[in-house]
Amino acid sequence: MKLVIFDMDQTLVDFMPFHLQTTRQLFKKFFKVDASLEEVDFSGRSMAENFIALARLKNIPNEEVQKNAGKLLKTYEMLFGQNIPRNGASHVLPGVKELLEELVRTDHIVVLYTGDSPSVVKHVLESTGLADYFEFCVYGTQARTRLDMVKMAIRKAAEMNGVKFRGKDVVIIGDSVRDIDCGKEIDALTIAVATGPHSPQELAEHRPDFLFQNMADYKKVLAAIG
Ligand SMILES: [Mg+2]
Repeated sequence: MKLVIFDMDQTLVDFMPFHLQTTRQLFKKFFKVDASLEEVDFSGRSMAENFIALARLKNIPNEEVQKNAGKLLKTYEMLFGQNIPRNGASHVLPGVKELLEELVRTDHIVVLYTGDSPSVVKHVLESTGLADYFEFCVYGTQARTRLDMVKMAIRKAAEMNGVKFRGKDVVIIGDSVRDIDCGKEIDALTIAVATGPHSPQELAEHRPDFLFQNMADYKKVLAAIG
């Protein structure tokens, strides 16, 4: 039995057009500037971290962001909900559905960890129909770092299943170098997929156990999980 922890954005789904649109609208509304999420290294970071990074780039004082933090998040969630399609099945990345179908037939515990907030995740899972594949989700709003999120997932999975997951019993699958890095910190098995902004070369430099272009060949990913 393994604990398989999936990142969400650019690993399972591509909702980037909607994140970009929402971020543009948000920064226009609050700070009257043109801002694109792609101007910062957003992948594998929480929404709050990205708001701060993008604001800094646009010379918006940090206190402006901190003061509006709650409102920024709420507004983002509302706009994102308006921007995404009701049926987002076409935004599920290749091989993902097949891989998750295979995983539910194993005794592995499958969970989600993401820098997004609960409301954004709910929108994505409802739109794509992926919700039922995950035992639970750990959110970017619950922990300070990605590593803290992973540790939280391990604790919660242990409590729910009465099993201690350690070392390579924990599998982290993600599209960013940060997914690899936090997995390495706890000696987890790391699987990188190059379906996000970090190139295969960048990902390879962080030495994941496995690196795939995408998950279209889901049987290979399943074999890597073990
Ligand atoms: Mg990601």
